Amino acid sequence: MTERDRQTAGKTAPVFRFAPSPNGRLHLGHALSALLNADMARKQGGRLLLRIEDIDLTRCTPELERAVIEDLTWLGIPFERPVRRQSEHFPLYREALDRLKAMGLVYPAFLTRGEVKARVSAFEREGGLWPRDPDGAPLYPTEERELSAAERERKLATIDRHAWRLDMEKALSLVGKPLTWQETGDGHKGEIEADPAAWGDVVLWRSDAPSSYHLAVTVDDAAQGVTHVVRGLDLFHATAVHRLLQELLGLTAPVYHHHRLIPGPDGRKLSKSLGDTALSALRAEGKTPSDIRAMVGI
Ligand code: GLU
Repeated sequence: MTERDRQTAGKTAPVFRFAPSPNGRLHLGHALSALLNADMARKQGGRLLLRIEDIDLTRCTPELERAVIEDLTWLGIPFERPVRRQSEHFPLYREALDRLKAMGLVYPAFLTRGEVKARVSAFEREGGLWPRDPDGAPLYPTEERELSAAERERKLATIDRHAWRLDMEKALSLVGKPLTWQETGDGHKGEIEADPAAWGDVVLWRSDAPSSYHLAVTVDDAAQGVTHVVRGLDLFHATAVHRLLQELLGLTAPVYHHHRLIPGPDGRKLSKSLGDTALSALRAEGKTPSDIRAMVGI
């Protein structure tokens, strides 16, 4: 396909993407995701992009990125080149953050993880129940929304690290209507009501890394013209935040397909530390790409 053909096709053809973070070796769960993306793209005459989600510059390494590409190539995943690397697009995420800043929807957040934890424990020792997000993490306290401009400036000048968080209440009232997304996956299907408020004041720019998962994934899906997001059910609820950001930034929403997860040997979610389900380990044992397909049930 020439670049011209691709551009013409790209206008109408569905666009899929597989978007791993190279902070460990790929495992069977990634294989399911990548194979589903490839199969769906093929059946729908679509394109398949590979996006390396490496905003966490301390955990993601070039060696692991090479390993990701090696595993996907071995599996026979036909992704387009060049591959997009998030670490090469920080200015684009910064621009999106700046737009949200100009809309008065984000604020600098200074509390460390330890400070939040201590606050939550003290509250719960007194018998209170601190609200938690869909992943079970305590919501960030909201008082920094109210800091005066002078106090904000003073803190920015004197405290080393800060994150930028979305003022969820303001963002929702600006949008002013319920948000939904189209879902075709293995859980609930159809038009799903998004509940971004369940996540509280999500972080959009981390204190220890540029950007954040939510901001970079939303900006990139739009920048790459992604029409179909196929990923694990562990990200089902996070879609609410992505829908909200799309609405605030005026971006088109893709269709979402959240697929079943592959449980680890102990029945829990697979993680990158579970070496025995790493594709590289299975390959070394003599498994073939079709064995992997069978192992993930497709
Ligand atoms: N980078 C994310 C992960 O490896 C996936 C992001 C997505 O598919 O939206 O879990």
